Amino acid sequence: MTDTIVLKPGKERSLLRRHPWVYAGAIARVQGSPWVGDTVRVVASDGRFLAWAAYSPDSAIRARAWHFDEAGCVDAAWLRERIAAAIARRAPLARDTDAVRLVFGEADGLPGLVVDRYGGQLVMQVLAAGVERWRNEIATALCELTGLPDLHERSDAAARDREGLPSREGTVAGAPATDRLPVVEHGVRYLVDVPRGHKTGFYIDQRDNRREVARHAAGRAVLNCFCYTGGFTLAALAGGAASALSIDSSGPALARAAEQHALNGLPPAPCEWREADVFEALKALLAEGRRFDLIVLDPPKFAPSAHHVERAARAYKEINLKALRLLNPGGLLFTFSCSGAIDVDLFQKIVAGAVFDARVDAQMLRRLQAGEDHPVLMTHPEGEYLKGLMLLRV
Ligand code: SAH
Repeated sequence: MTDTIVLKPGKERSLLRRHPWVYAGAIARVQGSPWVGDTVRVVASDGRFLAWAAYSPDSAIRARAWHFDEAGCVDAAWLRERIAAAIARRAPLARDTDAVRLVFGEADGLPGLVVDRYGGQLVMQVLAAGVERWRNEIATALCELTGLPDLHERSDAAARDREGLPSREGTVAGAPATDRLPVVEHGVRYLVDVPRGHKTGFYIDQRDNRREVARHAAGRAVLNCFCYTGGFTLAALAGGAASALSIDSSGPALARAAEQHALNGLPPAPCEWREADVFEALKALLAEGRRFDLIVLDPPKFAPSAHHVERAARAYKEINLKALRLLNPGGLLFTFSCSGAIDVDLFQKIVAGAVFDARVDAQMLRRLQAGEDHPVLMTHPEGEYLKGLMLLRV
């Protein structure tokens, strides 16, 4: 008998709207004895077919839909087709960079799978039981479809814990990955630490926003807060920034930033990499009467879940308020949140509150988001985690 998940009455609605997640609370019973990651049939309380899904017995998201076609199957050939389609969709990005997200989970119909390409190196993150079950087949398909032999795994994200899966990091195929993998994005060179860098090594998702900063940086005094390895700073300097102060609490990240800076041979401009707590540093800069013409705020995820939203909102407001006060009139603020639990509207409200409390006038010039290799499935808005605003202090 096919393993089957039977939903409670009324709980079929989200699958009918092609939202891919089945929460534990929606399930009336599980028929058969599916293993972790097995493909199960999901039916409504009246027995009507809804989806083929991957079973995650240890996760609050108890199943993730592969697809909604009763006659279709889920096997290695089908997975390979989905991966091939995702890779093909990224082809236009090759003009701008060789650091590209090839597969982005739910949005590409492969829940829990993330694949990035850095030059000739593939990096995958396997973050859900379904893709864990097909890990070997996925790895083979990735190397064959891209023609790249080197595949590294960074399945060490917190999402694995929530799935009840152990952390895993290491070489899957080919040669071991380097911690200084050269990539080029819009003409700027970066060195990606594949085994130990954040995420899969680099904030690929900020590509378009780095370009936007570069476009506006000429002649400006730049402050980059939470700079990590200096992506926004290097983009700003390449765009002709007059000076750059970059702040992060991580010494090793700053050391890498300085190394990448030297590598690029950028136009000379005063450039300081400062190891400090941003909250304290912003206070000190205000006390010293410093002012800037372009500020980037790209903090870590202040709200890792819905429970943290209130405290996170206070933290976002505090740094935005201080940054607005540090801006000269005519200055630009690029401010971001990567907290999935805080949506675009809430983030905008928080920043509007900061504008009000800072007693400045500001215009929103743009909303900012991740690049097109991080698509958001229209039926799965949860996939939209990175949001930003570009403000002009009037
Ligand atoms: N803007 C970066 C990514 C930021 S990741 C980029 O474009 O690449 C978040 C960074 O914030 C990390 O480098 C982390 O070391 C730093 N960080 C976290 N809390 C901090 C704090 N209170 N003060 C300074 N840096 C902090």
